[in-house]
Amino acid sequence: MAALEARGSVDSAARGDHGRDVEPRILLVGAGGIGAPAAWALAEAGVRALSIIDEDTVELSNLHRQILFDDQDVGRPKLEAFVRALALRFPALEVTALAGRALPDNALELCARSACVIDATDNFATRFLLADAARLAGVPVVHAAAVRWHATVMAVLPGGRPCYRCLFEDLPSGAVIDCATAGVVGPVCGIAGAVAADRALRLLAGDLGAAGSIVTYDGLGDRLREVPVAARAGCALCGESAEIGSIVVERYMGAACEST
Ligand SMILES: [Zn+2]
Repeated sequence: MAALEARGSVDSAARGDHGRDVEPRILLVGAGGIGAPAAWALAEAGVRALSIIDEDTVELSNLHRQILFDDQDVGRPKLEAFVRALALRFPALEVTALAGRALPDNALELCARSACVIDATDNFATRFLLADAARLAGVPVVHAAAVRWHATVMAVLPGGRPCYRCLFEDLPSGAVIDCATAGVVGPVCGIAGAVAADRALRLLAGDLGAAGSIVTYDGLGDRLREVPVAARAGCALCGESAEIGSIVVERYMGAACEST
């Protein structure tokens, strides 16, 4: 616990009380299969400060992809185990641990306090929420997802086009892949996390070429591809008549599972 307290504080910041004087450089939303390799890569790259938000508990079935955890962490809060693992490996890294979730009532503030947001979440509602909040807050965001053998990563510049909604428009309706049954291959999460970290570093370095496309990885086909994304004129977030100018809770209801 000493290491945890020395490197970060677990608090109730998910509700808006960040409890830290240090401004986080990068906000990592999700301490799971994508968040772990992303944080590791960012720390290795010399990032000085991370803010991490999560509310889940480590499960045995997580260990094949959540590389900062081991058997002894099963049953513990992911956030606690995550921060401890980072502190052991990267003692100079400043970590702010935020217990909870990114929600409509705190997402805007969470984003606004960050230089860059990495969306490593496991559900569409939070993913769309972060897309909207990051844009409204004027910060870059990297969306990373993985399911089964497939990974996708998309980076969006502050106020830039295309955005996440240009490609995916809105929360899916009807049947979606169920996170409890679909599963995900560990190395595919590793790819997603590493590419997300790469994109975040490039965005922070002012590399405009890091945005405007989606990176896809097919673990079975052994293909890593970058596909340009066209900005959509009718996009509700960045289009000519964009209608999303605030965070309205009803817009993010009906969460559907993905998998990380
Ligand atoms: Zn858009």
